[in-house]
Amino acid sequence: MNHFETARRRMVEDQLIPRGIKDERVLAAMRKVPRHLFVEEAFRDRAYGDHALPIGERQTISQPYMVALMSEALALKGTEKVLEIGTGSGYQTAVLAELAARVCSIERIQLLVSKAWKMIEELGYRNAVIRQADGSFGWKDEAPFDAILVAAGAPQIPSVLMDQLKVGGRMVIPIGERTSQTLKKIVKEEKGPVTVSITPCLFVPFLGASGWSKDEESTGTDAHK
Ligand code: SAH
Repeated sequence: MNHFETARRRMVEDQLIPRGIKDERVLAAMRKVPRHLFVEEAFRDRAYGDHALPIGERQTISQPYMVALMSEALALKGTEKVLEIGTGSGYQTAVLAELAARVCSIERIQLLVSKAWKMIEELGYRNAVIRQADGSFGWKDEAPFDAILVAAGAPQIPSVLMDQLKVGGRMVIPIGERTSQTLKKIVKEEKGPVTVSITPCLFVPFLGASGWSKDEESTGTDAHK
């Protein structure tokens, strides 16, 4: 076992299980996906720490616990088609590719799309696709989705994304102010959406047509508070 693998196992034992992550498939994915390959070389030794890390372009790779918590909330069995908004490093994309049948991921910054795509290809995930776009509009050609994960803090739930969610589908999304949000889980039931609050959190802002405007941009940390 190399030292990254040891660090990854320790991350699961120390950060995820004690905080209540129980889904065995999520824990297995977190033990498997090489998070250190999704950060710059200078940060590799900190890749399994209990925090978000910068990935360039003023964006961050989310804290491991946040990735696990959002993944668990989607209750994936392996047959689902998932939409992810905010690819960032592509780490969460890889975790979702382990948990679902197909992952469609959207990122607004082309440089991050290129880097994430390279890593997803190198690791051999054939069930994930990434494109550059404003996630406000979802991914019409691939809709509807069983689950949607939004990895940037939005002022409200983008209605287009609700439209692209199947009845019975789940969405996780940080909602609130630019500098502090609540992670919400929305289940689209036949009678209408049912929302539960999961935890206070701090994500980078969702920028775009149904998000914040770019000139107000500031950096969050993708951490649980
Ligand atoms: N889960 C990712 C972290 C993503 S950080 C990881 O672990 O690496 C959030 C990402 O959302 C940033 O890369 C940011 O550029 C992107 N983003 C913000 N608003 C967006 C939008 N409207 N559409 C698509 N991506 C967006």
